[in-house]
Amino acid sequence: MTSGDLITGGAPRTVRDIVCGFCGLGCDDLEVTVAGRAITPRTACPEAARLLTRSDATPPSPRVNGVAASFEEAAAAVATHLKAARSAAFSGLGADLEGLRRLYDLAMASGASLDHAASGGLFANLERLARKGWIAATLAEVRNRCDVLVVFGDDPASAFSRFFSRAVPVRGEGADGDAAPLFVTAPGRRQIAVVGGPLSEASRRVLAAHEVTEIAVAEQDVATAASVLTALVAGRGVDGLAGLPDETVAALAALAEQLKAARYAVFTWNAASLPAADAPVVAGAASEAVDLLSVTTRAAVFPLGGRDNVTGAHQLALWRFGYPLRTAVGAGTSRHVPELYSTAAALYDADLLLHTSAFRPDAPPDFDRGPVIAIAHPDTVFAREPEVFIPVGTPGVDYGGHVFRMDSVVCLPLQALRPAELPSVAEAAAAILVSFGRGA
Ligand code: SF4
Repeated sequence: MTSGDLITGGAPRTVRDIVCGFCGLGCDDLEVTVAGRAITPRTACPEAARLLTRSDATPPSPRVNGVAASFEEAAAAVATHLKAARSAAFSGLGADLEGLRRLYDLAMASGASLDHAASGGLFANLERLARKGWIAATLAEVRNRCDVLVVFGDDPASAFSRFFSRAVPVRGEGADGDAAPLFVTAPGRRQIAVVGGPLSEASRRVLAAHEVTEIAVAEQDVATAASVLTALVAGRGVDGLAGLPDETVAALAALAEQLKAARYAVFTWNAASLPAADAPVVAGAASEAVDLLSVTTRAAVFPLGGRDNVTGAHQLALWRFGYPLRTAVGAGTSRHVPELYSTAAALYDADLLLHTSAFRPDAPPDFDRGPVIAIAHPDTVFAREPEVFIPVGTPGVDYGGHVFRMDSVVCLPLQALRPAELPSVAEAAAAILVSFGRGA
């Protein structure tokens, strides 16, 4: 049985070729067994397996002030709180595109600032992208063309479990082994250089067919190492830059020569896992190296990110408001001030927090200046009982939807795997809008 088959009860059934919306990598080959409403993953990375596993248990009902309430009562209570608020902050934003559309409608109706729980890395990268731009590769370009991949920072697989097997597969392996790489001159033997690390044993096994160089650099020195590598690519002196051991500089010099000889070099990093002040430096150094290499060959950056559809939240904000996240909307206007409207900053002035997390049971941030509204995963554990809790289903588990892949170029369709007993984020936000006096 494959995607598109019936999701109603009956005998246990296998669902194949499932698209995953959790980390942003967009794997599309997951497999689960569904029995009634219980889901048992068969093929999935550990993170996806953890988030896909479901029991047959009855989900919780909405709560208002800790007391069970109907969906309509909870939606009405949220609308009442929003009408009384003067400075609402919408956080989390872990939802599919349709859910985000309705949340943004609600924010425009009530007035609110908007930020995603995973936008820290995004904004570290935007600092470079907005000022100078960059040349970025898609996942398909990395997969099919990259012959030298430079990783800055820790092992990407710690946050994107299948990154290496998806980005630099070995021809002939797995069901789609013939599909890629298409244009790498020596299939199966690419050069992978990790500046930071260390790689996990699992990643080393995945990369065993490639030429892997691990240049061990402490987390706090990754930005310096990235700057040194770019200076070496440029042919600049690095005496004032380094502060790194001689053997590290020598390894970076050898890597710079590999990069100059590459046909399609790609630089990748996970800004969210780097020290906050260093992530923009790494993004800048990688982008400058791409600029330098592009004079004589091809090169690109491939920034990692995209957890819980942060890329979709970012894209949707751009379409709707002309600004990225960390924007306040309402009364027909939008105002983008990232220093004011990051969740942490917005909560200093907010008198209401509305937190959405449908992909995983992430609790709202600490907030005691006003009511907390949680439109959240049913397993969420709250440090403080929210004034209103509306449990919602998960996109790609309880209902279909769309999420963006991390490279922004593909909008992935998620499918429902089981009969839904909880509303979607879109349905919850639409009901609140109706109670608010605005038809969804
Ligand atoms: S690596 Fe990411 S997209 Fe792939 S299965 Fe795991 S969580 Fe899902």
